[in-house]
Amino acid sequence: MARLTRIAFGVAAALTLCASFSAAVLLSAAFAPTSVCAATAPRPPITLKLIPFGDTRKAQMVDYSQRHYHQHTWRLTAPKVIVLHHTAGANWQSAWNTFAANTAYDSGTGRLEKPGVSAHFIIAKDGTIYQCVRLSMRARHAIGMNWSSIGIEFVQEPRSGRNGHWMDQQILNRTRQVRAGLRLVRYLELRYGITDRNVIGHAMANNSPYFKDYTGIKNAAGDWFAPEVRAFRARL
Ligand SMILES: [Zn+2]
Repeated sequence: MARLTRIAFGVAAALTLCASFSAAVLLSAAFAPTSVCAATAPRPPITLKLIPFGDTRKAQMVDYSQRHYHQHTWRLTAPKVIVLHHTAGANWQSAWNTFAANTAYDSGTGRLEKPGVSAHFIIAKDGTIYQCVRLSMRARHAIGMNWSSIGIEFVQEPRSGRNGHWMDQQILNRTRQVRAGLRLVRYLELRYGITDRNVIGHAMANNSPYFKDYTGIKNAAGDWFAPEVRAFRARL
């Protein structure tokens, strides 16, 4: 009896999370101990390596959000977009150190602003996923998008004479790294109800329906243009 109750509860939970699944699929799921969602997008292994984001940095994010989004908060609620980036560095530690340093940065407004840049996740070349910022908090990773998006950085160093397309192709060719990215994105899509079309590259951010910045600045990014993002989405 207790086992039946647990299974029924599992199906109810699956129904809540995956409203689009048919009743037939859910009924068949009743005979399996795992839910439909868990079978399709399990949470990948994530190494928690949070940067310092205490009261001072939170207050800086409140002020930043007020200036750029007319929103007085550091909280990220109901993210709608996942923005892909590359680090332009050799390893995850250099990106993490940059995020943790909280160095004032000028995004094009002509003033140095805090908080410093950061992203929610860094994915190393070996496929290890490091979480740097909690998903309930805003990270400063893409102009116009920090109020509505989750930022994911892939480690990739630049090379002289090569552009962003080449850099992102290296990531797509690196099996363990790209597989980790796909697993993380699938998990986040399901958790927050984010659609594939809202998995975008930093270089695509200015055209997102969720882009807004009241100071008038825009991204001039060279990471993850549409062709490479299409190749990534095709594997989701
Ligand atoms: Zn970027």
